[in-house]
Amino acid sequence: MTDFHAPILVTGGAGYIGSHTVHLLAQQGRKVVVLDNLVYGHEQAIIDDGVELVIGGVGDQPLLRSLFDKHAFGAVIHFAAYAFVGESVADPLKYYRNNTAEVMSLLEVMQEFECKSFVFSSTCATYGLPMSLPITESNPQQPINPYGRSKLMVEWILKDCEQAWGLNSACLRYFNASGCSMDGRIGEDHDPETHLIPRVLMALIGEIAEIEVFGTDYDTPDGTCIRDYIHVEDLADAHAKALDHLAAGGDSVCCNLGTGVGVSVKQIIQAAEEVTGKCVPVRFGPRRPGDPDCLVADPSYAGQALGWEAKHRDVRDMVSSSWKWISGPRAGRYSDQA
Ligand code: UDP
Repeated sequence: MTDFHAPILVTGGAGYIGSHTVHLLAQQGRKVVVLDNLVYGHEQAIIDDGVELVIGGVGDQPLLRSLFDKHAFGAVIHFAAYAFVGESVADPLKYYRNNTAEVMSLLEVMQEFECKSFVFSSTCATYGLPMSLPITESNPQQPINPYGRSKLMVEWILKDCEQAWGLNSACLRYFNASGCSMDGRIGEDHDPETHLIPRVLMALIGEIAEIEVFGTDYDTPDGTCIRDYIHVEDLADAHAKALDHLAAGGDSVCCNLGTGVGVSVKQIIQAAEEVTGKCVPVRFGPRRPGDPDCLVADPSYAGQALGWEAKHRDVRDMVSSSWKWISGPRAGRYSDQA
């Protein structure tokens, strides 16, 4: 069993989902150390006093040993990863090195220091094309790109480590992470930005000329792809609950994190128009290769196992919080960007 009060190491804690989780953990009074190489993360996304940011990579074992020696972590939340599906197809070794191989360096140090609680950022991309909808955790995991495979291999490694040395883990399979902190203080700043909701809003502020809708001939009611958009603050809450579950001696779990509500690309554009009162410039284009028609979670197991459920169920919450960030003083960017 883990000490509830021991410090927590959060890798990738300066990234999008990581920074929202760190903010929540700090507000809950937990002691957090962030390890982030700042390749995609932002120093300015760490906004709470008392959160230590260490700049470095999860493959740097001497650094990890010095951190474990100093802080005696009770648990690790591992966010640090690359997450561009297209890039993973073009440069798979980058993904297998960073998302899979480097995790082993971290796990080796955890084993040395007998730290046995691990919360892992997994993804619905581990399922590939779903056998049935909504997607439960028992859906076969047959990822269709290196990104999904790089994450699935870590899930397997965690199970083997559990057998071998008693590591307990929570693999949290995110659906479409979206939205920004409701107070507008931190948000989503990717370069390049490929995700639908920020791109729709970028089209509204003129940062891009228009939003291209990738395909209108899918087997869905309005012909555009359906996804399950989950608010980043709900994801943060699930990580806190997963930590508590493991600290209380709970078994290892793999959980879907979604709302269970499917929303089409056209419905996102409509929600953006409702929230902002502005008209989104849209161009209808061809399908993006590799996009399934519909991905929607059955999130009920996360409710049973962790006592978690999404509080934000209306996609307008995701859109309005992103709008607050993008139309706010930072214009959707941290100023530490080169
Ligand atoms: N999408 C789109 N135009 C864009 C970006 C995304 O039509 O500029 C569509 C994409 O085809 C998918 C949905 O929006 O059906 C969500 O895509 P996103 O890249 O945000 O997340 P993904 O589902 O790929 O993880």
